[in-house]
Amino acid sequence: MCDVTRRNLLFSSALLAGAAKAADEVNSAASVSKDVYFHQGDIEHQGHCNNGWIIFKDYVLVIDANFPSGAQNILPKIRSLTEKPIRFAFDTHHHGDHAYGNQVWIDNGATPVAHTGVIEEMKRYETGYYGNKPGRWEDTAKTRPDVAASHLAPPSVLFPRELYFDDGEHRVELIHLGVAHTHGDAVAWLPKEKILFTGDACVNGPYNFVSDGNVEKWISTLDAAKKLGAQAVCPGHGPRGSAGVLDDQQLFFKVLSESVRKRVKAKPTARQMFESVTEIREEIAAQPQIARYAGKDGLPSQVEKVYNEMTGESFPPDTKTSHLARLLHRHAHAAV
Ligand SMILES: [Zn+2]
Repeated sequence: MCDVTRRNLLFSSALLAGAAKAADEVNSAASVSKDVYFHQGDIEHQGHCNNGWIIFKDYVLVIDANFPSGAQNILPKIRSLTEKPIRFAFDTHHHGDHAYGNQVWIDNGATPVAHTGVIEEMKRYETGYYGNKPGRWEDTAKTRPDVAASHLAPPSVLFPRELYFDDGEHRVELIHLGVAHTHGDAVAWLPKEKILFTGDACVNGPYNFVSDGNVEKWISTLDAAKKLGAQAVCPGHGPRGSAGVLDDQQLFFKVLSESVRKRVKAKPTARQMFESVTEIREEIAAQPQIARYAGKDGLPSQVEKVYNEMTGESFPPDTKTSHLARLLHRHAHAAV
């Protein structure tokens, strides 16, 4: 399916779902509240994540470093709004589209900040940086010139659970709510404005990558996120929306888990479980509130992850070929 058709489909299913706000334009900054901005990244063509930034009295805090090209993309947009120094770039988690731009922010005077779990995850996956065999950075650099031209800069201001930025006017609480999309996720919560920047712990569309996290714990972590009482949710990917986006994200994982659980009871082989992916997609697509999460590329690995958490089993290797080919194709097209 070509990108335009796919986007149109995503757009229509988001409208049908009602909870998604599709008014913001991809690649432009939107004011969420006074001094608080949201920027919806172009994931389809450039692989970029969403960003946010908060203009404090004396400095700017950026939410997510993005890929290097994503950082370069939003820098002039921040500069057009304020001359205050950009002091901090908060990585919501360790993935490349959220943390590989750290060096760009450092070069522009900022310090990358993250939950301590981000460093633990980087040690797990960024083996090249830590002196072992090439890891994810080196792999990504093969297809992304912006990554090849930069280098990994792990965050150097770390917090074990929470870190607050508060100048009396604005308050931003960086909080690790639990394991979700990764083991090192944290969110940015603005209690005065009731705005929540979720990173990929919550997305708005078919963007859930589940391999580094835990879906069962993710559902509980979303409970903790819901308890904050957000009125505006700025997700890691996809358009911003109301608190309903958290409900939809959580419901998707609940329905997915239930669909897998009821099949697991019949003790299927791994191949039979794989073969039920189409049926599971239909079950999810039949629910307007979550239909937009059931992506063609992501669902097989999401089903496999939940199945693996429940049984310890994985899908047979040969079932992954076509899925992998699609992902690689998409990755190549997202290369900048
Ligand atoms: Zn991610």
